[in-house]
Amino acid sequence: MSSSHKITQLVDRFGRTVDYLRISVTDRCDFRCVYCMSEEMTFLPRAQILTLEEIDTIAQAFAELGVKKIRITGGEPLIRRGVLDLLQNIGQIDTLNELVLTTNGSKLEEMAESLKQAGVKRINISLDTLNAEKFKRITRTGDLDKVLKGIQAATKTGFEKIKINAVILKNRNHMEVTQLVQFAVDNGCDISFIEEMPLGVVDSHDRAEVYYSSDLIKSDLQKEFELKSILDKTGGPSVYFKVIGTDSRVGFISPHSANFCSTCNRVRLTVEGKLLLCLGNEHSVDLKRVIRANPGDREKLKQAIIDAMQIKPEKHEFDLKEQPIILRYMSATGG
Ligand code: SAM
Ligand code: SF4
Repeated sequence: MSSSHKITQLVDRFGRTVDYLRISVTDRCDFRCVYCMSEEMTFLPRAQILTLEEIDTIAQAFAELGVKKIRITGGEPLIRRGVLDLLQNIGQIDTLNELVLTTNGSKLEEMAESLKQAGVKRINISLDTLNAEKFKRITRTGDLDKVLKGIQAATKTGFEKIKINAVILKNRNHMEVTQLVQFAVDNGCDISFIEEMPLGVVDSHDRAEVYYSSDLIKSDLQKEFELKSILDKTGGPSVYFKVIGTDSRVGFISPHSANFCSTCNRVRLTVEGKLLLCLGNEHSVDLKRVIRANPGDREKLKQAIIDAMQIKPEKHEFDLKEQPIILRYMSATGG
């Protein structure tokens, strides 16, 4: 390992160090969650998406530049063929502290064990409701029973931590926050509540009308649980509370009510090969073009990544009442 591998070379204009890369390995999904996709989606043609080898090359370059944590996401990452080989390769990068995954859980029953073997340390699993009918309404195509079996398989497999992610929408699942926390407690998991972000145009609801803030969720929970603020950081924007008397933590990701940009340490790679410098802005660099124009030239790729830090925006602004300024969907973004 050369000494440059140890030095973080990714620092932006605002002095923030980027040591976390999220990679979307597919824009496709077996679900069509109402806040994430519209019912009819057009997905990218094969030629336009990065091959698994290209994704691996980019991940290796980021690790050489000082990235310590990589999250594989999508779309639904576990439906991309060959994803286990990719995870295995990334899992072997010795300078990486953490390889983690975000999934909807539909394939976990079959894949949990192989994911562990590939080196995945922690898993985030999306679960917005424990009611099968409501689950179908929110995901449009999902099967709650399958996801619950997946969560069970994952807890048995012994990952370092499993976290449930729930997007809360007023009058759809806001009344279930207590049950969701109890579910996390019963399964030894953490749970994060996420405020819906205006990414892409969705056709099922008005985003301003369904907004349910983290503060409201917190006060609902405090009727049932004692929550104690903790400073735990998992390298993400969640603000954490310990559920007293349990091993679980509750996190709140609040892009509207609490702007977390000043400590942003991450960038995202889309499956099209665009390096997105901010979830809430369009600033990006086309890394697919760089690798396809310079095959095998790792230094060119690394230089493009270093240069990209110069255009990382200071912060995002989301306005739920306006039409989204970000037209890409979360599934194409690598949420
Ligand atoms: N398919 C996987 C899953 O659902 O976990 C990974 C990709 S999904 C885009 C990642 C996370 O983004 C999920 O927890 C999902 O609930 C969340 N998400 C999707 N669209 C969102 C939106 N508009 N606002 C906030 N969170 C969103
Ligand atoms: Fe698929 Fe995840 Fe988006 Fe739901 S949130 S549609 S599971 S990518």
